[in-house]
Amino acid sequence: MKVMETKQGRPAEILLVEDNDDDVFITRKGLEAAKLAVNLNRVENGRECMDFLRKKNGYEDVPTPDLILLDLNMPIMDGREVMAEIAKDKDLCKLPVVVLTTSTADNDLLDMYHLRCSSYIKKPVDFDQFKKVIHLLGDYWFNVVILPTRVGDCSPPG
Ligand SMILES: [Mg+2]
Repeated sequence: MKVMETKQGRPAEILLVEDNDDDVFITRKGLEAAKLAVNLNRVENGRECMDFLRKKNGYEDVPTPDLILLDLNMPIMDGREVMAEIAKDKDLCKLPVVVLTTSTADNDLLDMYHLRCSSYIKKPVDFDQFKKVIHLLGDYWFNVVILPTRVGDCSPPG
């Protein structure tokens, strides 16, 4: 597998919102194994995620992520609350958010798609599977998908 980077020719910035250190470890390993040229930024809960995205409270100098990987169940502020905040923020709502969780509860799926998450993926239990998922994700989001470059309002037209 070749090393992939974004169309801009720089490593992709991923924001991993995940409270579980083991899941962070396995995601990092998956990214390495998939040979993706990425910078992985990690925050531990939704509040840190929103500070990161809004570049405040110690996150003033962080990059804007090309992709957000969002866990659902976290302390302080969970993935549902994060998605709701992102969805109503005209500067943030165009950011791709992929939900990465152990939950396959229909209510969670419906809630997150209702809030327009980009996709919803169950954390694979097996590392080889996980590696494959991460590689597919990277290829799709960094080499295939086109996103707007213009900053600002992404509220519905009309
Ligand atoms: Mg969790």
